[in-house]
Amino acid sequence: MYDSFLIKYGEIGIKGDNRHIFEDALAKQIRLALEKIEGDFTVRKERGRIYVNCAGTWDYDETVTALGHVFGIVGICPVVIYDTGDYEKLEKDMLDYIAREHPGCKATFKVKARRIDKNFPKQSMEIDADLGAAILAAYPEMKVDVHTPEILFDLEIRDQVYIYSKIIPGPGGMPIGTNGRAMLLLSGGIDSPVAGYMVAKRGVTIDAVYFHAPPYTSERAKQKVVDLAKIVSAYTGPIRLHVVNFTDIQLYIYDQCPHEELTIIMRRYMMRIAESFAQEDGDLGLVTGESIGQVASQTMQSLLCTNAVCTLPVYRPLIGFDKNDIVEISRKIGTYETSILPFEDCCTIFVAKHPVTKPILKIIERSETHLKENIEELVKTACETAKTLTVR
Ligand code: ATP
Ligand code: MG
Repeated sequence: MYDSFLIKYGEIGIKGDNRHIFEDALAKQIRLALEKIEGDFTVRKERGRIYVNCAGTWDYDETVTALGHVFGIVGICPVVIYDTGDYEKLEKDMLDYIAREHPGCKATFKVKARRIDKNFPKQSMEIDADLGAAILAAYPEMKVDVHTPEILFDLEIRDQVYIYSKIIPGPGGMPIGTNGRAMLLLSGGIDSPVAGYMVAKRGVTIDAVYFHAPPYTSERAKQKVVDLAKIVSAYTGPIRLHVVNFTDIQLYIYDQCPHEELTIIMRRYMMRIAESFAQEDGDLGLVTGESIGQVASQTMQSLLCTNAVCTLPVYRPLIGFDKNDIVEISRKIGTYETSILPFEDCCTIFVAKHPVTKPILKIIERSETHLKENIEELVKTACETAKTLTVR
């Protein structure tokens, strides 16, 4: 049915001198996304536009879905391509297009032709008027509306004639690889995969770290995190995931520190370890799924205490979101069903009945001095024994 897709991109088109960097990054991400599916696709960059030409055996839905995962794409327009010929052929092709795409059409419309081949004998405005008249003659129930048409027929006249009228919304954002990398603290919950998605959507390449606590957390809990990383990687590209064994650190904190401070102190060690992996991977920040007030460890006081150990910026894209809003995004990106599978993560195992909700940094720091004997060694071991996998 279609021969090509015209890819519309918004924001990246207005980056001045850097524009070509963004366009190249977008073309690259489109190629990577299409590598995963069957078909011979050629991605072409041409004067502020990107085309994906499709050949061989390819599936329309699969292709649109793959393109729908590429950040930076604002619209995906399926294009029908006709060979150029004389003016009468152009009219016939226009009507053929409507018969195929909008059979029995009664909508209001506008024709917008762009004459890229300047040798074509007529000017764009003239083409618009002539094709409009031809459409009205063939479809008496259609009406011209130049301001808010229900259907806009776009024509590009180049070595061939490109016609399109549909725009399938893309995810927006900026192409991956245009904004550095960040380390995502990825748990098996609902929030952190969404947080990773949101930061990646701004063009950031994502690395991830997961803290597990066997035997308190199961192999299935870990598998769930790998599965979540895999779903997110459909948008972000391959994710380097560090799996850290956190059990001994957690038990040690449990033994040495007040139980109501356990979660906060644990979170501080997670951040420290995440930061050391971030330094190794060349990440420019940490990302978490925290949101103000969602749980005891996410009050303003708790966030202050957690944040105090970090030297890298910590990005919390969900900070002002209600749970419902986060759930909505997680459904949209496809992580929700996996996130709600009922395997414990290491935060939920040791939680106190009454965790502090207004921790005081000085007091937390004093409690941590009880760890001084072994903690450095335990952190070192945790970092050295971590397993790194690439999830795609
Ligand atoms: P999530 O739904 O993302 O698990 P949550 O509401 O359960 O979040 P917490 O358990 O307090 O909240 O975790 C806050 C943030 O800390 C998470 O969003 C995540 O970024 C990070 N985090 C928590 N547990 C882990 C873990 N086991 N491994 C890696 N990161 C974690
Ligand atoms: Mg959690």
